[in-house]
Amino acid sequence: MTRRGPDIVVAGAGVVGAATALGLARAGLRVTVVEAREAAPWTAAAPPDLRVYAIAPASADLFAALGLWPRIVAARAQPYREMRVWDAGAAGELHFRASDAGGTSLGHIVEQGLLQHVLWQALQHEPNAEFRCPARVAAVLEDEDGVAVELDDGSRLRAQLLVAADGADSPVRAASGIEVAERDYAQRGVVGFVRSERPHADTAWQRFQPGGPLALLPFADGLASIVWTLPTAEAERVLALDDAAFGDAVTRAFDGRLGALRTASPRAAFPLRLRLAERYVQGRVVLVGDAAHVVHPLAGQGVNLGLADAAELVALLRGARDAGRPLGAPTLLRRYERSRRSANTLAAYTFDALERLFGSDAVVPTLLRGPSLALVDRVAPLRRFFLRHASGRAG
Ligand SMILES: Cc1cc2nc3c(=O)[nH]c(=O)nc-3n(C[C@H](O)[C@H](O)[C@H](O)COP(=O)(O)OP(=O)(O)OC[C@H]3O[C@@H](n4cnc5c(N)ncnc54)[C@H](O)[C@@H]3O)c2cc1C
Repeated sequence: MTRRGPDIVVAGAGVVGAATALGLARAGLRVTVVEAREAAPWTAAAPPDLRVYAIAPASADLFAALGLWPRIVAARAQPYREMRVWDAGAAGELHFRASDAGGTSLGHIVEQGLLQHVLWQALQHEPNAEFRCPARVAAVLEDEDGVAVELDDGSRLRAQLLVAADGADSPVRAASGIEVAERDYAQRGVVGFVRSERPHADTAWQRFQPGGPLALLPFADGLASIVWTLPTAEAERVLALDDAAFGDAVTRAFDGRLGALRTASPRAAFPLRLRLAERYVQGRVVLVGDAAHVVHPLAGQGVNLGLADAAELVALLRGARDAGRPLGAPTLLRRYERSRRSANTLAAYTFDALERLFGSDAVVPTLLRGPSLALVDRVAPLRRFFLRHASGRAG
């Protein structure tokens, strides 16, 4: 079956794909979103989603522009007003306050499931958007006039452009022949919720240690979400501990900074890698989010970089539509690629360098760590540089 085509097909409705699709539809473009996973509605009464994001102010601005931020905050978004970063093997601490950035918070901790739920609901009510779910992009065929997207139910969509927001293993990227540069960190990010003996003080905490950093992010109801980076075998070991032993292990890894930490949820682990697409554009296919770049989670910026891709692409395509230019024009798509690829590559290698500096127990990196933290903490321009990046407003 061939139906009258939308202007744009978006493959994947994770947070980045759904935000891109909604932004395009609100800009007056006709969009079909194709998502493989069934909807899993979020409710406040259910246990919180283990996957939480540190949403930077620039990303909150994007949700606000889509009219969704008040709903997200009313549902469950925990502001963090301070950030403390220190190292197990060196003195010195980095301490940021919201007032340093001239705001009331440095960002918000929000569940992935909540963001996705709010975005999907908005898409379902959006007259310019069609939501095909569950459905999978099975094949992509390009010709001079546009792109044909074949779904696994045998239907076919024709559009001017296909946006691949189908995640780190992006089948659309692979089908388009776009190569990736990759570094496997041989680490896993262990995630879960804990309850701390002393209050988390609305602070995002991170302690670096040779195996990888442990982040403790403030959450509602006195809970805190942890992202504990560990070498793969060590991650398997801590995942298998009983709750009491896991609580003790995470308390030690956190240096007892908030007293005893107790397990408050199941745990999960994600493999960590650096993966950068060599191109963001191939013909009429454009990559956004993890399909284009997967970064180390130590700075909590993965989804924020993807949302910045979404904002830039929507702005360029809206401009093209207003000027009556074709959406698949190579010059237009190259502009998107140039701007986002350089910003994302710089961010990815900065996080990679931090991982190498703080994850090593060799003598030179160990000697550099304490002075580096102290230097950034004391030198005003360096503090401003880090705050601008953490807020997602560096560009
Ligand atoms: C341990 C850990 C902690 C993290 N913490 C943070 C953090 O604090 N802050 C932050 O910003 N980032 C964080 N990240 C990164 C973040 O998880 C990712 O950057 C983000 O999920 C990427 O979103 P996305 O929408 O691009 O991709 P995804 O969330 O992977 O979404 C892709 C979507 O595409 C769909 N799909 C796949 N194939 C097809 C197909 N053929 N057809 C149709 N649909 C398809 C999938 O079902 C999925 O819904 C963390 C990552 C890890 C591993």
